[in-house]
Amino acid sequence: MREERLAITHLGEDQKQYMGAVVPPVFMNSLHVFESMEEYAARGEEQPYVYGRAANPTVNLLEEKIAALEEGCRAVAFSSGMAAAASAILAVCRAGSHIICMRDVYQPVKNILNRYFVPKMEITVSYWDGLELEKLEALIQDNTDMILLESPATFVFTVTDIAGVAGIARAHGIKTYIDNTFCTPLYQKPLTMGIDIVMHTMSKYIGGHSDIIGGILVVKDEELGKMLQETIRELFGGILGPMEAWLGIRGLRTLPLRVEKHQQTAMAAARYLELHPKVEKVFYTGLESHPQAELIKKQQKGHTGLLSFVLKDAPEKAAEVVNHLKVFEIGCSWGGFESLALCPILSYKEEELAFLNLTPHDRGLIRIHCGQEGTGVLLEDLEQALKQV
Ligand SMILES: *Cc1c(COP(=O)(O)O)cnc(C)c1O
Repeated sequence: MREERLAITHLGEDQKQYMGAVVPPVFMNSLHVFESMEEYAARGEEQPYVYGRAANPTVNLLEEKIAALEEGCRAVAFSSGMAAAASAILAVCRAGSHIICMRDVYQPVKNILNRYFVPKMEITVSYWDGLELEKLEALIQDNTDMILLESPATFVFTVTDIAGVAGIARAHGIKTYIDNTFCTPLYQKPLTMGIDIVMHTMSKYIGGHSDIIGGILVVKDEELGKMLQETIRELFGGILGPMEAWLGIRGLRTLPLRVEKHQQTAMAAARYLELHPKVEKVFYTGLESHPQAELIKKQQKGHTGLLSFVLKDAPEKAAEVVNHLKVFEIGCSWGGFESLALCPILSYKEEELAFLNLTPHDRGLIRIHCGQEGTGVLLEDLEQALKQV
């Protein structure tokens, strides 16, 4: 707890260097200059900052704070969550690797596997539903190098046994990766459960204000951290911009307050929807009715603001409900101050639904993000929209 408080306040900062400014400045520069050629020749030792594609002081400050929050040794910030995800795969896999991917992970991660890593790098992928560890173990091959996880995943909030997967992976020398965006570093710390690489999309809760795109990887292993930073990020050129890093640092300062409020409202909304006569089912990790409630209690400290539900009515009615919402805006992201709603799988084909173990009726899944407008306001909005169908 003390570590967390330090990380979101002044960890890594040196106020004397910033003329006592209580908030560090944004280092909006592409390079650093030296007093002599001798000093330039010694770069990297006394002065770690040389050129902005390799490192920037503001980006580094954000990385130190997030590494501390995740209890890792190093964090590496990228220009987007997808740049971070792709970099993790590039760092771990080689041509011909086999990857085991949890079925419910963020769709663009499956797209980059299908459209790039499989055809261009002859990587093969097996999908796992995230549930039974015996089934995961059965998928392991001699060339399995990486397991990709997201827990909870963000359509029906499937959770996977993080420590269980990490234990199996270690025994087979396989690296594990998890998208921890939903929980934030405050509500789940996968590195402490044996995971090798943790990813956060900064456009969601870390940024928190829907004004940045960025991604960050956190590791416990110094060699892997060096590979990610000095080879993959520096040479592929995907570093986060300094202004985005500064906004990420600002986001961290209110992260505990924000996620607590998101959680409180989402819990109230989930309970309300669960009792609503027009609602068939609700998916939220905070509900006692979640099929994995026991596991969730073991590995998550909290739940944040995203949930989904399915109406008893036909899927087409779901779009009507979303159209009737007045406070919830229609949009595909989440994690910001604003409430959002969407039917993310309305246009999925039957085989795409079957792949996710969903029925044709589940096409009408409504996903909502509970923002900071206030619990009463949002429950009223849901009530009036549901009344109209
Ligand atoms: C938004 C999102 C991403 C992608 O992040 P970008 O910064 O948009 O590339 C990855 N994982 C999850 C769970 C997300 O919600």
